[in-house]
Amino acid sequence: MSMASSSPRVHVRAPGKINVYLGVGGRHDDGYHALATVFQAVSLYEDVIARHADDFSLVVRGVEDPDTVPLDDRNLAMRAAKLLAAAAGYEGGVALEIRKSVPVAGGMGGGSADAAAALVACDALWGTGFSQARLHELAARLGADVPFALHGGTAVGTGRGDQLNPALARGRFDWVLVTSEEGLSTPVVYGRLDALRDEEGALADDPPLSLDVPVAVLQALRSGDPEALAECLFNDLEAAALDVRPDLEQTILDGIRAGALRGIVSGSGPTIALLCADPEGAQHVQAALREAGVDALHVHGPVPGARIMG
Ligand code: ATP
Repeated sequence: MSMASSSPRVHVRAPGKINVYLGVGGRHDDGYHALATVFQAVSLYEDVIARHADDFSLVVRGVEDPDTVPLDDRNLAMRAAKLLAAAAGYEGGVALEIRKSVPVAGGMGGGSADAAAALVACDALWGTGFSQARLHELAARLGADVPFALHGGTAVGTGRGDQLNPALARGRFDWVLVTSEEGLSTPVVYGRLDALRDEEGALADDPPLSLDVPVAVLQALRSGDPEALAECLFNDLEAAALDVRPDLEQTILDGIRAGALRGIVSGSGPTIALLCADPEGAQHVQAALREAGVDALHVHGPVPGARIMG
């Protein structure tokens, strides 16, 4: 087994994600829904710094309300560090520091990014020397979105979203993100989707237990054409998220009025992702929304997954 790193700290950066396409199928017996999704990693990052320590500890910076992020074993980064230590037979600990930029409970996979970053950081700090495949396997045990945060780029996720296949994406896509002060709970949004589907009643077909991403989405990504991608953006959770937060519909309309090609709820929301034609278009949309007092961020994708910083 390799030796623990002699450097006092390892800094890893991992991206948040947007679901360019999110199809939600039926619920399996274990409670999970079948998914077919396309993730795109975007330039809004979580930074995780790992330092040698005898025990496990965690501090989180950059969140307005500290109560929203657990600091104990419920924190995905802490769970990642402990899972890696157990898998590697490492007997020491780690002092983790998370600098958050991805909104908490924003539907952008911030906690998953922290977990992926913690795996890579502890692997380097402890000299565990695990392969990418082994880290991927541990990531999948931590949560369905964690393997993608490790991988980055643009990828198709099936199963629970954790069976990943890279997707070809040419060029860059410019997005404006509208964040919300208050997060949305992912289980609540899935629960609302189930309730809405139940209300549709016996006339509706049962949602399938296995689904695919439409070819048009993959073609649009390959072409690098934002207008083509705008036409096929889709999120099965959107109706449920808008049912919980009806005000988000207006945010989408405001983004389109400001010049965005299209807007969708990102993942389980409440972050709204507005796809723009090019960087200048996105700057314009961001400026117009900010002038109206809205928290808007211009990001681009795809960007790489969790990686060690120099
Ligand atoms: P999901 O990945 O469930 O779709 P999300 O992307 O909307 O979630 P996250 O910011 O990842 O949102 O966190 C969802 C919840 O997970 C938080 O409300 C918090 O209670 C818990 N959590 C656990 N670990 C973390 C972490 N490292 N950062 C933020 N939240 C975390």
